[in-house]
Amino acid sequence: MNTIDECNFKDKKALVRVDFNVPLDKDFNITDDKRMRAALPTINKILKEGGSVILMSHLGRPKGGPEEKYSLKHILGDLSRMLDLTVKFAENCIGDDVEKKAKNLFPGEVLLLENLRFHPEEEKGDIEFAEKLSKLGNVYVNDAFGTAHRAHASTTIIAQFFPNAKYFGYLMAEELKNAEKVNHGAAKPFTAIMGGAKVSDKILLIESLLDKVDNLIIGGGMAYTFAKAQGGEIGTSLLEEDRMALCLELLAKAKAKGVNLILPIDTVIADKFDNNASKNQVDTGKIPANWMGLDIGPKTIKLFSETVKNSKTVLWNGPMGVFEMANFEQGTKAIAEAVVDATKNGAFSLIGGGDSAAAIAKFGLENEVSYVSTGGGALLEYMEGKELPGVKAIQN
Ligand code: AMP
Repeated sequence: MNTIDECNFKDKKALVRVDFNVPLDKDFNITDDKRMRAALPTINKILKEGGSVILMSHLGRPKGGPEEKYSLKHILGDLSRMLDLTVKFAENCIGDDVEKKAKNLFPGEVLLLENLRFHPEEEKGDIEFAEKLSKLGNVYVNDAFGTAHRAHASTTIIAQFFPNAKYFGYLMAEELKNAEKVNHGAAKPFTAIMGGAKVSDKILLIESLLDKVDNLIIGGGMAYTFAKAQGGEIGTSLLEEDRMALCLELLAKAKAKGVNLILPIDTVIADKFDNNASKNQVDTGKIPANWMGLDIGPKTIKLFSETVKNSKTVLWNGPMGVFEMANFEQGTKAIAEAVVDATKNGAFSLIGGGDSAAAIAKFGLENEVSYVSTGGGALLEYMEGKELPGVKAIQN
């Protein structure tokens, strides 16, 4: 793999695509800085060798022009503290001002560019925009795993301007190494745990996993569409009516392939979508009208946990219930603990995509599993067997 270990950065100006798309609260404080911390090893290696770093990232979903709430200047203070130096800032990622700032950057200095997505050309993968960005540095590093599945100007198109000077950063390399461990040659038994809101988001992933896993556990909101498809009553639980036939198809496919597909056998129900709703427990498929399933029940926790604990590879994507509400977090928490137990027993556990990374962080178990991916969509697409354009651009 073409990583930054193959380059000596002395006197080089490294143009580094990072994923600093961090969540901010209403006062612009960073509520989770994991993605920034994850890029530090790459930045520090370049600085230590006597190079300078020009950081480019997107933040949020601006509508094609500058928007104060999506300005990367909000993260400048935290970034400076993390790197223990004063990070410079360019108020636009292209143009005279940033070119001058990049030119005057000394070894050991860091320049952060304003949000790339203030220019619609970024997401369009515009080649002229990519070329303008490329002029700012003489080495290109991609460390943005979270956007590696997008063929954007700064993640993919730009690489062609650095035919002999393009590298994967350490985060990208680590993400790919861990995803590969699960994707090919996973130790068995291999168990995938799928959850989250919708089946429709995960169809391709489920189909591709059926060729690899021994056990496929399905919980969360998506499990109710399976229950309904099998003739159960699900009250007002999440339902994707147009996916019911597909659920039956997936069940048949799993059976044909010898995959143990495990669905919830009981559920925690509520009379409204509210942490303070009235609660009850019923068997799957027996939810009264006007009640909704918001978590897996205790029998299911036991069933799922047993399977997880006896696995040698675990991939977890998506919560088992509405874990954001304290009264419905129990199932997700118990499964997180089962993943931790499996890891202690020697399993390789990869968490990522959807909200499972947020869930494991909420329960303070991030450091008790093998790896928590920083990529949502990118990890899922990689697991689906798709080639990530941001990865391919460095390899070519
Ligand atoms: P995803 O991004 O697909 O992983 O979905 C995560 C979201 O699914 C979380 O915000 C959960 O609150 C939500 N979720 C999980 N289980 C349920 C459920 N039974 N009913 C409604 N929402 C759910």
